[in-house]
Amino acid sequence: MTEELLRINGLSTRFFTEQGQVNAVDNFDLRIDRGDVFGIVGESGSGKSVTARSIVDLIESPGEITDGEIWYNEPDLADAVREDRPEAVDGTFVDLRRISPERRRSLRGTSFSMIFQDPESSFNPSLTVGEQIAEAVEVQRRASANPRSTRARTRSEEYSLGSFVLSSFLPSKRYVTEASRERAIELLELVGIPDPVERADEHPHEYSGGMLQRAMIAQALAGEPDVLVADEPTTALDVTIQAQVLDLLDELQSETGMTILLITHNLGVIARMCDRVGVMYAGEIVERGTLEDVFDDHVHPYTEGLLGSIPDIEGEAGRLQPIDGNVPSLLDHEMGDRCHFADRCPNAMEDCLEHPPEYDAEGSNDHAVRCVLAAQEYDERRAIPDGYFDETRPAGDKHVDPEDADEGPTVDEPQRPLEEPGGESP
Ligand code: SF4
Repeated sequence: MTEELLRINGLSTRFFTEQGQVNAVDNFDLRIDRGDVFGIVGESGSGKSVTARSIVDLIESPGEITDGEIWYNEPDLADAVREDRPEAVDGTFVDLRRISPERRRSLRGTSFSMIFQDPESSFNPSLTVGEQIAEAVEVQRRASANPRSTRARTRSEEYSLGSFVLSSFLPSKRYVTEASRERAIELLELVGIPDPVERADEHPHEYSGGMLQRAMIAQALAGEPDVLVADEPTTALDVTIQAQVLDLLDELQSETGMTILLITHNLGVIARMCDRVGVMYAGEIVERGTLEDVFDDHVHPYTEGLLGSIPDIEGEAGRLQPIDGNVPSLLDHEMGDRCHFADRCPNAMEDCLEHPPEYDAEGSNDHAVRCVLAAQEYDERRAIPDGYFDETRPAGDKHVDPEDADEGPTVDEPQRPLEEPGGESP
């Protein structure tokens, strides 16, 4: 029987830049069951990575989570929080946005862990790989032994309260103890690093890209997290190593039953790894469901476009069908109230000038679509004329990647607000 682990309602993350408010994640909903591998797929700049960072609480200024709830099913945490913040608890679920920042931080590593896309920039070049993994192990051990930690009741077997008090007051060389070093070597072995004892003493530059990605997975596993968020874990790797890293994640998931949230722009990775998938566009999930729903019974024209741009190695050779246009600027004053995909959509109709709600698609409980085509047929007589959005697009419209938001968008021209041409319906 499935058990719901994460329930995200209306999550919104904004970046406040000199050019205006960037709606990187907008009213985002998601359900993930324990043990699921859930994939989020979309083009670069659709808000996937910011979503992952919002869940793990890694949003930094000028970004801010402005709205929404992140309900996490963790009975121990619910017991610990219930008395002080009853409004943050619903049965065994806790709303992570309503607990203290310190408590939320303490869940990093033990409840939520993250693998980043570029392992080379994620390791400290001046420390050995073993030291850095051992440090993560040690942090988790100390958190477990802390009597105020909600994990103390479940994960304190090796690190006693006495050790915690001692290690809290005595200076410790780089946080590494013999026990944590041994655990780091075990983790390196678990992720398939050959000669882990020797390799633990090497620095990141002595590892290949694939080995370093494995080492990062080892580091992420140090706290035995409930949820592993993998943000484009294979993007920086060549194809053979990509396959090895995906195999490794697959094996670890089967062995541990860990829940994985996999962020990728690659539908092949989704098809290979995931049970369920959400297609993301302009900060929203526009279609979600099982693999079959999204690959075989999709409704949203953007999903159709993504699938149409995958090479078919079995069919006849032919040109790939790219999706015309670019992902929109996510600047609030340019997004308007229309469907965000309308200016690229071959089926855009007058009805699409209102932002569509999420509809249940026919045939599956789990299949939902943010598109009017889930509720009505395409009607050519009501089609939006060609060029309509060219007239409404502001001069110098360029996409703002939220990852670069602290540097401000690369817009040279001052922006003018989105307005309907002539104030009339087309
Ligand atoms: S709501 Fe309209 S414009 Fe948006 S994807 Fe659906 S058909 Fe296209």
